[in-house]
Amino acid sequence: MTFSDLGLSPALVKAVAEKGYTKPSPIQEKSIPPILEGKDVLASAQTGTGKTAGFTLPVLQYLTATKHPKYRPLRALVLTPTRELAAQVHDNVREYSKYVNIKSAVVFGGVNAKPQIATLRSGVDILVATPGRLLDLHNQKAVSFNRIDVLILDEADRMLDMGFVRDINKLISFMPAKRQNLLFSATFSNDIKKLAAGILRNPVSVETAPQNSTAKKVTHKVYKIDKSKKTEFTIKLIKDGNWNQVLIFTRTKHGANKLTEKLIKAGISAAAIHGNKSQGARTKALRNFKDSTIKILVATDIAARGLDIPLLPYVVNFELPNVPEDYVHRIGRTGRAGAAGEAISLVCSEESEYQSEIEKLLKQKLNSTVVEGFEPTDNDPPKRAASQSKGAFGKKNKGTSSKGDRLKSKPHFKGNRPESTSGRGRTGAPKKKRY
Ligand code: ADP
Ligand code: MG
Repeated sequence: MTFSDLGLSPALVKAVAEKGYTKPSPIQEKSIPPILEGKDVLASAQTGTGKTAGFTLPVLQYLTATKHPKYRPLRALVLTPTRELAAQVHDNVREYSKYVNIKSAVVFGGVNAKPQIATLRSGVDILVATPGRLLDLHNQKAVSFNRIDVLILDEADRMLDMGFVRDINKLISFMPAKRQNLLFSATFSNDIKKLAAGILRNPVSVETAPQNSTAKKVTHKVYKIDKSKKTEFTIKLIKDGNWNQVLIFTRTKHGANKLTEKLIKAGISAAAIHGNKSQGARTKALRNFKDSTIKILVATDIAARGLDIPLLPYVVNFELPNVPEDYVHRIGRTGRAGAAGEAISLVCSEESEYQSEIEKLLKQKLNSTVVEGFEPTDNDPPKRAASQSKGAFGKKNKGTSSKGDRLKSKPHFKGNRPESTSGRGRTGAPKKKRY
């Protein structure tokens, strides 16, 4: 099967050949033909399987094959959950549209809106956007949805997790009722089906490989470790294992910064990526990580969502996430595309509750070991451990918030709030994150 066999035009085939793609991926094989036929499509395939080209190529073909007014009204809209993803998808759109006469643009929050408004005014055929910024721009009348023919929801599961449903529905309310709808997602949960039912009409469902097949190739390893020794142990793991490309997750932005500083001090090239970093800094960190200028990327859950991070042999959970679903998202970063992967978690005694919740979700016990020299010494029950150990280990635990309280889902202290993506805290209240 070739891209031409799927019905794509020579100009598009030439562009993907230049990208080095020799044949369509399974999800591309399944999704491109029905999209070319103008059908609504609900597609699900693991991260890293080429979903972007799966919708971009047929949509570009539609846009080039149909007549449109000279002023180039917006005809196709791709919604993505994060800024990085929007930028990434737009990079792909630009590459795939190299040999066709199509104008594309990307808009997302966190950067000046003025140039975005100017670009939109100049006429754009296909726009990639995050929901929050796009709503703002629409409110300012910088963009019209009157001529939209195709709506694409990319990484729909993450958009759900991040609480974007209301924004999406609001945006849709401004669009013509008659349009093609495409929904792409890494998972096929009931929530996704519900979202799809509200938006798609008689969709063709395409799916590749059961969604948990990645998880099965991943080995889970837990090191029971003293909280104060996590950094030292991480450095040891990286150095002893000669690791070259590792993604490390922390629960807080502050934690990400602190760990990154310590890694750099230890002579390990690293960068942090989280919501408080400027867009420029995040893009640069990701680029440096991808081209191996830096070895370690330290990320919060929210920053890592949907990034096109290359296949990674190891993912390290410096701290366990307080929302068990985030663990599944995190380990989705390893063992991609048939390769084996290892998810390593450093768990101190106050995190054991999180571990049990993850084990419940995975229906699997995580293989735990204690390493000599790094044994947990803070073995008191969580609540007392927090207040007592602070006195006993003054310098090491100088944080002001009680971690024991955090386990009991009391309100978080501002500086230490986990940067969680799941939109559901342990309190169950939906939080909205705008990106
Ligand atoms: P997903 O959205 O499914 O997570 P992406 O669309 O981000 O995946 O694609 C993952 C990577 O695979 C990208 O680097 C992309 O350039 C590459 N890719 C996509 N399609 C093909 C193909 N047919 N052959 C080879 N590589 C591909
Ligand atoms: Mg994708």
